[in-house]
Amino acid sequence: MLYQSDEVNPFQQAKPVLETLLSAGYEAYFVGGSVRDLLLGREVGDIDITTSATPEQVQTLFQKTVPVGIEHGTVLVIHKGQGYEVTTFRTEGTYADHRHPASVQFVQNVEEDLMRRDFTMNAIAMTVDGQWIDPFRGKEAIESHTIASVGDAHDRFQEDALRMMRAVRFQSQLGFTLTEKVDEAIRNKRSLLKHVAMERNRVEFHKLLNGLHCHEALKVLFDTGLHEQLPVLCKFECDARSLLLEKNLSRLNHRQIWAFILEVLRIDSAFSIAKEWKFSREETKAIEVLLTGFRIMKVSEWTKWCVYTYGKETATDIEQMIACWESIAERGVHLIWESLPISSRKQLAVTGNDLLRWRQSTGGPWVKNMLQQIEKHVVEGSLCNDRAEIKERVLAWGNE
Ligand code: ATP
Ligand code: MG
Repeated sequence: MLYQSDEVNPFQQAKPVLETLLSAGYEAYFVGGSVRDLLLGREVGDIDITTSATPEQVQTLFQKTVPVGIEHGTVLVIHKGQGYEVTTFRTEGTYADHRHPASVQFVQNVEEDLMRRDFTMNAIAMTVDGQWIDPFRGKEAIESHTIASVGDAHDRFQEDALRMMRAVRFQSQLGFTLTEKVDEAIRNKRSLLKHVAMERNRVEFHKLLNGLHCHEALKVLFDTGLHEQLPVLCKFECDARSLLLEKNLSRLNHRQIWAFILEVLRIDSAFSIAKEWKFSREETKAIEVLLTGFRIMKVSEWTKWCVYTYGKETATDIEQMIACWESIAERGVHLIWESLPISSRKQLAVTGNDLLRWRQSTGGPWVKNMLQQIEKHVVEGSLCNDRAEIKERVLAWGNE
């Protein structure tokens, strides 16, 4: 194992789950992305387990289970508060719609299970004591940083078109290169992507945008023509591509890059693409804020009030976008943020009730307006966040 003894080792924590299966006489292995990431020395995400036990047998062996995908053979086993997907060795029947296998059959042999997996780097099983089962030479692919299909790439993409998106998102996350066969198969089979549910494409595309090597992956997405099958992205002509790809996108997250995409394609608002990409309302709003903030701040100076109203996180994101867009240094938003006397209205030393009392007046829109004025003066430093001082100012305003 690659973990140092004093580090929390997620495989060590999952070991009792494997051992329970093994002592009941079943075969069981760690498998998939976690094994790949262990070999790469990357941080390991969810740990998946593959076993000869059927879902029913898994359910009887463990106290806490959730039937998350029984029809595909998957049971979530909860062990010490952590969930592990335990999936019965299976092979897949024919794919009628380039998305889902018409049926899955349970099999007794781990090699057969590994054969249904997408890429060789994801088709390695590891025993409880760290031995590898690697019939497709996935370790070699990991060492040489290549993304190779298990079996014929054309056939595998014909079965499940989402694998093409997975290939480019792994490229972005891992910095690996597609084998020539995978690249060629994507070019040939790209039109099948339209059969894949937009939600699934979106998940993969956002992982791609968040990857460290998203620049290279986007280039492959465009070069192979895979983008032609995706709404909005299909509008990318040569000039727009160059404009986007000349930016150093590696530090930006998917929302920031979406805002760039909209800017490059001269699309007014994130709301106009939300439906096609099936964005949640929250996601759309977040992209919209970044897009409008970027458009305004690209031609304005950062003031205390601007930084305060956007909030630290959004202001930093916008500043980072502008720095990336114009290849300039960031303009010290964090320093402005740190110099602010308050970071939210809640920290204001007075409330609406104070204003009502001091002015001995009845409520109305003036309260909100005056509070906002006070807030702005305090943020900009022309008024101290001090009750007595604010009261004096409020009474003076009253007399004006
Ligand atoms: P991540 O680190 O992003 O979770 P992962 O490789 O673990 O990457 P998952 O989607 O969690 O990806 O899938 C777990 C495993 O299931 C994969 O490693 C692969 O072996 C297999 N798999 C997932 N999706 C497919 C697919 N569409 N076709 C074939 N095998 C797949
Ligand atoms: Mg995973």
